[in-house]
Amino acid sequence: MIWYPYQQMKTMNPPFQIIDAQGVWLKTPEREMIDSVSSWWSVIHGYKHPVLNEAIKSQVDNFAHVMLGGLTHEPVQKLAAKLQSYLPGDLDYSFFSDSGSVAVEVALKMALQYFVNQGDMKRTKVLSLTHAYHGDTFKTMEVGDDEDYHFILEAYGESPNVYHIPTEIPALEEAFEKHHRELNCMIVEPLLQGAGGMRMYDVSFLKRARELCDTYGVLLIFDEVATGFGRTGNRFVADLVLPDILVLGKALTGGYIGHAVTVANKKVYDGFYGDEPDKALMHGPTFMGNPLACSVALKSIELFEQENYMEKIRKIADITRREMEGFEDSRIKEVRMMGGCVCVEVYDSATLKGYQQFACERGVFSRPFLNYMYAMVPYIISEEELVRVLRTMKEWFAEK
Ligand SMILES: *Cc1c(COP(=O)(O)O)cnc(C)c1O
Repeated sequence: MIWYPYQQMKTMNPPFQIIDAQGVWLKTPEREMIDSVSSWWSVIHGYKHPVLNEAIKSQVDNFAHVMLGGLTHEPVQKLAAKLQSYLPGDLDYSFFSDSGSVAVEVALKMALQYFVNQGDMKRTKVLSLTHAYHGDTFKTMEVGDDEDYHFILEAYGESPNVYHIPTEIPALEEAFEKHHRELNCMIVEPLLQGAGGMRMYDVSFLKRARELCDTYGVLLIFDEVATGFGRTGNRFVADLVLPDILVLGKALTGGYIGHAVTVANKKVYDGFYGDEPDKALMHGPTFMGNPLACSVALKSIELFEQENYMEKIRKIADITRREMEGFEDSRIKEVRMMGGCVCVEVYDSATLKGYQQFACERGVFSRPFLNYMYAMVPYIISEEELVRVLRTMKEWFAEK
């Protein structure tokens, strides 16, 4: 039996059987649907991209995997070098892992140990945001604030290790005022909080967070697992405000294979560098730096640069604005747009019941959750396909 994610096994609708996928299209035995979710926001180049397919095929004939413990190889070396030149500032030190959750765990471990390595044992706490989502492992759930995980709160009570604040500057200033001596880091999904409900906020909050982190010597972590590679209309939000640690996942491999990276700046790296073995970072996922993942990630970044994806994303944002601006319905609380993301938040989650089937019949795959109907399409989508996705969202409200 397959135990499916985020679902009550007893009552779930049977999942769609996918037999082929090409470009933005998912194929089932009965029909074709545009994937408006990009397979959890990762498949930015679409399915079956010839360049990405070739990257994996040629590497697999060479070797599929070797560990990074005592071994290294060209795909991981090339990807690390690429990230070093591609990412802003001195975000130069890449620690690879197999999923976004693990890469966030690594970032949080780095931040804590950075201070412990200096003999500072008091900085054990983390500042994070309400409605945050950072993954499904235990520490990432602890710094997160996802409604779906509030059973953790019920079981364990409020964590003494984390302070959650809303994305408002007064709350930010107050938190630093009160807690700065205890904080090792502040972690955020910058500008766009994804799984917490596609919540969007202003860059001024991040700029102020950067200032306060500098003032009080707190490390700033950007979890760009979802926002990285253009989703907010910025290549990385880290291009606007520079964090000390950047986490990338999801679109890193163009959605081909699970892989993620925690990228540290020189200050953080130097906090571990030295002669003492006990100051080393004790972490090492079995499949970190997997050669297939690194090969495809490198090609994905090259495509992103060479085929001017930022322009594609600007077009998606323009078309989305044209189609969705001013769209209203008494059941809709808000329509939010940013870069390659649009979200329709409704007052009552029951309003979205049946939407998945409705969209499917119109050739669109969608997966609304809680009160949120959204689209995060592959960047290679055509105007006609994108308009189909957006009009399907609007038709639901017109026809019901
Ligand atoms: C998806 C996501 C994660 C977790 O990534 P996985 O690869 O699913 O473990 C972490 N942070 C953010 C912001 C995400 O959207």
